[in-house]
Amino acid sequence: MLMLVGTAAFASPSTVDEPQKKKPVKLGVATSGPEAVQAEAKDENLPPMLTEKTNNLNPELLKRFDAFRTNIYQKHGVTLEINSGYRSSEKQAYLYRTLPRGMASAPGTSLHEKGDAIDYRPASPTYNQDLAKFGLKAPYAGVEDWHVETTS
Ligand SMILES: [Zn+2]
Repeated sequence: MLMLVGTAAFASPSTVDEPQKKKPVKLGVATSGPEAVQAEAKDENLPPMLTEKTNNLNPELLKRFDAFRTNIYQKHGVTLEINSGYRSSEKQAYLYRTLPRGMASAPGTSLHEKGDAIDYRPASPTYNQDLAKFGLKAPYAGVEDWHVETTS
């Protein structure tokens, strides 16, 4: 049983140009009854996250981010995307070399290399006010509002 919350759920689906062959990421979803948590309700109009961006991410982080993302979609009508998730050490080294100082951690020290951090877009301090409700935090708020991790 799917719990649809808010009027956004009834927007026309015909404008969504989504690849039908891609399966959305399956996450733990509250099934039915009044105990179904709104934060875990799925919204059929919210396009699935791109699987190449979710690869190798900590499943708990991904689950919490998906709930946060659904909340932001229902509240603001904005579809958040993962801009950067898991990174190999090679990729982290490349970013460290090429980005301005302080914008990427040294290779071997980034939570992205463990699949424990997500950079999302479009980022907003307003959206981040809801992070804690979903067990997430933005440790570099004000500098990198887009970078989120689990609180524990
Ligand atoms: Zn990051």
